[in-house]
Amino acid sequence: MSVKPVHRPIARSFKKKWVKEAAAHVRAGGHAFVWETDKRVLFVFQEPAEDNPDDFGAWGIYDMAKWKWNVETRGALKGLAWTLVPRDCLWIAKRRVERDSIHPGPTRKVAFDCTDCAACCRDNEVILQPSDVERFKEGGRPELAKPPYARRDKDGKLVLTLLRNKRCRHLQQDNRCGIYELRPHPCSEFPMGSECCLFAREDVLKLYDGLLPEA
Ligand code: SF4
Ligand code: SF4
Repeated sequence: MSVKPVHRPIARSFKKKWVKEAAAHVRAGGHAFVWETDKRVLFVFQEPAEDNPDDFGAWGIYDMAKWKWNVETRGALKGLAWTLVPRDCLWIAKRRVERDSIHPGPTRKVAFDCTDCAACCRDNEVILQPSDVERFKEGGRPELAKPPYARRDKDGKLVLTLLRNKRCRHLQQDNRCGIYELRPHPCSEFPMGSECCLFAREDVLKLYDGLLPEA
């Protein structure tokens, strides 16, 4: 975890008739929600590069429990990625747009101090991959994949355990990761300034990078 400035996309809403403007916003680095009806909404972003695990577009759909996108082949959105926003996530679309309504332009430069935050290390379910278990073994810490450090959830996935106060068991008092060199993939890939990062900061710390939510 470290401080490094990033340019995060600004989320905007567009009616369907303004799809060209939505495409221009995305091509300039932003994220667009295109409202075809009040229930059918496209989330539009630049196609993620396969070799970029930090891609803000891809991370923009993960907190809607989506992992795949389409790439449009025609029309104003040609070449851009999109996915349908699940109906139970429409509030996420509205909240992102509300949050960003005070920011001008298609992107915004942010630099958070992760050691002053650690929101993503609290009340977060970190799922361990086989490669994480292997790395723990190679690093001389095979116990990290077993209780009390890890447990099986109801779906059989191996997850890191939390302390009673919801902090990750490995989060030290200075907010640094106690197993930083061996930390699981989901931790090392969590990009600062991504929608998942912004959501964690709002949810856990009530820190808002933009307009506060309406009461
Ligand atoms: S929530 Fe974001 S800023 Fe906070 S520690 Fe995680 S990546 Fe860093
Ligand atoms: S393992 Fe480290 S980086 Fe991952 S959640 Fe725990 S404290 Fe944070």
